[in-house]
Amino acid sequence: MDLKGKDIAVLGAGIVGLSTALSLQEEFPMANITVFADKFNEETLSSGAGGIFRPDINVHGDEERVRTWCKDSLSHFMDIIKSSNSSQAGIQLISGYHLSSLFPYLENKLVEDILPDWRNLNEKDLKLFPVEFKGGQFYTSPVVDCRYYLPWMKTKFEENGGKIIKKHIFTFEEIPDIYCMIVNCTGLGAKSLLQDNMLVPIRGQTIKVKAPWIKHFYYSDDVYIIPGVDYVTLGGVKDYGSWNMKVNKYQQEFIRNTSIELIPSLKNAEVLYDWVGLRPFRPNVRVDAAFVPHHDSYRLIVNNYGHGGHGVALSWGTAQEAKRIVKKILMKQDFPLSKL
Ligand SMILES: Cc1cc2nc3c(=O)[nH]c(=O)nc-3n(C[C@H](O)[C@H](O)[C@H](O)COP(=O)(O)OP(=O)(O)OC[C@H]3O[C@@H](n4cnc5c(N)ncnc54)[C@H](O)[C@@H]3O)c2cc1C
Repeated sequence: MDLKGKDIAVLGAGIVGLSTALSLQEEFPMANITVFADKFNEETLSSGAGGIFRPDINVHGDEERVRTWCKDSLSHFMDIIKSSNSSQAGIQLISGYHLSSLFPYLENKLVEDILPDWRNLNEKDLKLFPVEFKGGQFYTSPVVDCRYYLPWMKTKFEENGGKIIKKHIFTFEEIPDIYCMIVNCTGLGAKSLLQDNMLVPIRGQTIKVKAPWIKHFYYSDDVYIIPGVDYVTLGGVKDYGSWNMKVNKYQQEFIRNTSIELIPSLKNAEVLYDWVGLRPFRPNVRVDAAFVPHHDSYRLIVNNYGHGGHGVALSWGTAQEAKRIVKKILMKQDFPLSKL
């Protein structure tokens, strides 16, 4: 099925939208794919994420789907790491520690199933830290620096013939009828587009610092430290339901102090900037097909949004499922429909 000359619209140019647009291009090389979005690259939420592939089974009630999404993303990132594109795409393989001051064992089924070198921390590991921890895990995982990965994907998409239109979309009816399919990857934007009350912001705040000597990632109860390509992200805030995009000075101080308590050398790190972003949280990440009003009738769209704090980890995997749904619809195969 080559869809020669057919037009497909992808709404959204964050990590989810661009992954979906590239996946559709791979599947339908003869189709015309257009990405519509009002924000690109460093303007997007995705651009500021810590970027670690930290799989979490709780992002959806269907564990098998989550497992498939995570495995698909992991193998995609590993293919890039093994290729010559790794540094241009900003993807590195980084080892690190997930630490708990409460529990001697941290269980994460997906880390244990799909990251081959994971192990529980022993007493010797725990003595590496000036803070007292009861237990934790060590593993090696891809870290995706979206300040590189998004422009890399966008360039690849355009080189393959993809079209970009910078535009705010108020309603799906604005997408002309020549598009035989719309894939909605608008993250938190889907809340107003679909009146989706299950979609809620979880505000995050981070500090980007220059600390090239930090070679591992660290997750503790209150803070995380994740090295990217040019800087290290220090973070920790999760404000459920907050739309506030301003930097909170108390949270800034808390993140900095707690990071330095964990890794004292960070007191020498140059502070580059503070960053606030709103995670598009939904109890279940939404990857499905649904009807939306279209003039006097209805139109079928595919949704791929609501990735919360795991959009980097799930991005390629949910893009594969969105692509499979698009293919089924265009081949007029049966598939389950969701209600609005
Ligand atoms: C502090 C913080 C740290 C994080 N760390 C990690 C991490 O380590 N690992 C991880 O996996 N995840 C992490 N995340 C989560 C991750 O950032 C998100 O899940 C992910 O970025 C969501 O991607 P997205 O493409 O759905 O959304 P976005 O990046 O927000 O992209 C949405 C796109 O849709 C467009 N859009 C929306 N509405 C409209 C409209 N009406 N008209 C036109 N265009 C529209 C926007 O312009 C944009 O292009 C973190 C998040 C935060 C806040």
